[in-house]
Amino acid sequence: MACRGLGSIDGGKPVAVPSYPSNCLYFAKELLKDHSLAPNQRSSCVTLNIIVVGAGLGGLATAIALAQAGHKVKVYEQTPVLGEVGAGIQIPSNSTRILFKLGLQPYLAPYVTEPESIHFRRWQNGKLIGKTKLVPNFGENFNAPYYVIHRADFHSALCRKARDEGIEIQLGAKVVDYDPVHGSIKLADSTEHSADLVVAADGIKSAARKIVLDGQEMPFRKPGFAVYRAVLDVNKMRDDPELSWILAKPALNIWIGDNRHAMTYTIGAGKAFNMVLSHPDLMGPSTWNEKTALEDMKAEFQGWDPVLEKIIGMVEKTIKWPLMSGSPLRRWAVGKLVVIGDAAHAMLPYMSQGAAMAVEDGIALARSLSHMESPEQWQHAVDIFQTVRIKRSSQMQEASLLNGQLWHFADGPLQKARDAAMIPEVEGLPFSHSPNQWSDPATQMWCYGYDSENAIDEAWVKAGTAHENSSML
Ligand SMILES: Cc1cc2nc3c(=O)[nH]c(=O)nc-3n(C[C@H](O)[C@H](O)[C@H](O)COP(=O)(O)OP(=O)(O)OC[C@H]3O[C@@H](n4cnc5c(N)ncnc54)[C@H](O)[C@@H]3O)c2cc1C
Repeated sequence: MACRGLGSIDGGKPVAVPSYPSNCLYFAKELLKDHSLAPNQRSSCVTLNIIVVGAGLGGLATAIALAQAGHKVKVYEQTPVLGEVGAGIQIPSNSTRILFKLGLQPYLAPYVTEPESIHFRRWQNGKLIGKTKLVPNFGENFNAPYYVIHRADFHSALCRKARDEGIEIQLGAKVVDYDPVHGSIKLADSTEHSADLVVAADGIKSAARKIVLDGQEMPFRKPGFAVYRAVLDVNKMRDDPELSWILAKPALNIWIGDNRHAMTYTIGAGKAFNMVLSHPDLMGPSTWNEKTALEDMKAEFQGWDPVLEKIIGMVEKTIKWPLMSGSPLRRWAVGKLVVIGDAAHAMLPYMSQGAAMAVEDGIALARSLSHMESPEQWQHAVDIFQTVRIKRSSQMQEASLLNGQLWHFADGPLQKARDAAMIPEVEGLPFSHSPNQWSDPATQMWCYGYDSENAIDEAWVKAGTAHENSSML
C-alpha cells in the first residue's frame, strides 16, 4: 500500500511503513494522492522500439501502457480479423484501476455492468450461503469499480484506445520464429522485424514461452475441469416469474456443489445473461462431441436448484471449453524476448483474474522500463519486472486452484463448516475471515488492493538502483 513518505506530507516525523502485511496506514491514502506522482504520468527517459506479439486483451493493454510510457510500439497479430471468443468477463477492481489510469474509462463506460454484489448459492436449492458486497465497498476500498462486460466489447475498447494512441496493429501477421539475441521475429510471410524488446502475449499455447524456457514445455496442471459457456437473452428470463428476480439487480450468482459450480451474471449493459458452468472432465477435448454438448451440459446439473435447472434448460447453444492451469515459470524472459499474459501464467478462471493479471503485467513492464536511466539498463528492468510478476501471478494461480477446492466440497463436514463460516457475511455481521475469497479481508486486500507499479518501484528501491524520481515512494 502506498503510504510511504507520510512524514513529508506535513513535515512531521516520518511514519514508518510496516514491513508486515498491514492496512493500518490506509487512512492516509487520500492525503498521499496529491503528493505522489500519478503513476501513468511517469514516462520513460529511455525510449525503446517494442514489438508486441498478440492482440488479445493482454497484448493490447500492454501495448497501450508501453506507448503511454513513451515507447514506440507495434503489435503483430496472427488473425486477419480482430475479436474475442466467449461471452462475459469480469474486470475486477485491481484491473479497472489500471485501465482507468490508461484512459480506458470512456471507452468501457457504455458497455460495462457494475454488479452490486456476489452471491454464493447452495447447489440444491439456491439458498444464499455467501455474499460479497461490491457496491459501494469495492469502489471505496480499492478506488475502482468491479465490472462485468462482454469480451468483444472489452477487446474493442482496447483496440480503439490502442489506435487512438497511434499504435499500429498488423493483422494476419503470424510469428513463426523468435530470435531473442537480436530481438527479432520472423513472420509466416518470411519478413523479419526487429526491436529493442519483443513482448510475446501469444496466449496459453505460446510458442515464445518454449524459447524462453530453452525449448522445454511448461508442465500444465490439469485440474480435471472443463466449462460450458453460454449466453441467454434476458427477455426470455424476464417473462418467467420464477426467474425474473435474478435480473432485478445486477449481481453475480454462483451456485456451488460437489465438483461443480455455475457462475452467472448479466452482460451487454443488462441485455444478456452469461453462464460459465464448471464440471469434472478427465478425458479432454479429443473425446468431446459438439452435437451432444447441450444435453451433456443439462445432465451435469440435473437435480440442482430448480431455478438453475430452468435457466440451463433455456440455453440453445453452448461451447465446451477446457480448463488448464499453468505452473509458475522459472523465468519470463531470455535475451530481448519477454512473455506476459496467459503465455506466462495461464490459470483457472476461478478468481476471475487471468486477464486482470495480464493488464497488471502490462503496466508493471512499462513502469519497470520507466526506471531506466540509460538504454543499457533494459536487462535489469526486465529482471525486476519478471521477479515481481512471477511472485504475484503464481500466487493468483494458487488462489484460483484453491477456489476449485473450496467451492466444490461434496455435502459433508467440510461443506457445513465452510457454509457456517460464511454466515456472518450473509447476515451483514462483522467478520475477520471467510472461505469466500472475494470477502476474506486479507485475501481481498492482497487481490484487489495490489498496486503493480508500487510493487515495481519497491523492487527497484530494494535493488538499490532506483533513480531520484523514485524517492516519491
Ligand atoms: C471460462 C473462462 C473465464 C474467464 N473469466 C475471466 C474473468 O472473468 N476475468 C479475467 O480477468 N480473466 C478471465 N479469464 C482469463 C482470460 O480470458 C485470459 O487470461 C485472457 O484472455 C488472456 O489474454 P492474453 O492476451 O494473454 O491471451 P489470448 O487472449 O489468448 O491472446 C493471445 C493472442 O495472441 C495471438 N497469437 C498467438 N500466437 C500468435 C503468433 N504466433 N503470431 C501472432 N499472434 C499470435 C492470438 O491470435 C491471440 O489474439 C477466463 C478464462 C476462461 C477460459
